[in-house]
Amino acid sequence: MKNKPVNEMKLYISAIPENEALARACISRFVSAADPTVAELADIRCALSEAVTNCVVHAYKNTEGEIYINARLYGDRRLTLTVADKGCGIPDVALAMTPLYTTDKENERSGMGFAIMQSFSDKIRVRSKLGAGTKVFMEKYLR
Ligand code: ATP
Ligand code: MG
Repeated sequence: MKNKPVNEMKLYISAIPENEALARACISRFVSAADPTVAELADIRCALSEAVTNCVVHAYKNTEGEIYINARLYGDRRLTLTVADKGCGIPDVALAMTPLYTTDKENERSGMGFAIMQSFSDKIRVRSKLGAGTKVFMEKYLR
């Protein structure tokens, strides 16, 4: 049942590279209460980090901006993560999610961020509007 979360975290952070570590630290602490496996914790940290990095380098292209992160943990051990920006948006989400696709080859990007997020989660949904921003929603059931 999609009931009320047993715990919830909402974070607004500046879109700067230093905050990738801050986001990882916060989600680690948040998820730790559910006693995840080491592998689960690593996956969650990694997936969130990829989403936050995308906001910094793509959405706002290293200009000023804000990233919104929402984490929810439900009684059935379902974890949901939402990462939203008000940046440039993605013209073709399906294409952007293709493994190895990147619009930023100059900066040694590999185009694997969405693939990593996908492999971490049981479900991923990406909504984006050009000029308005992008919202990534991920869901994972902890063991
Ligand atoms: P890597 O994550 O491996 O460093 P990457 O960031 O290019 O490389 P993905 O994370 O899979 O690869 O993203 C694919 C493409 O989708 C990006 O190159 C970028 O064009 C676009 N993109 C991803 N996230 C956003 C976002 N939040 N706002 C705007 N564009 C985005
Ligand atoms: Mg990326």
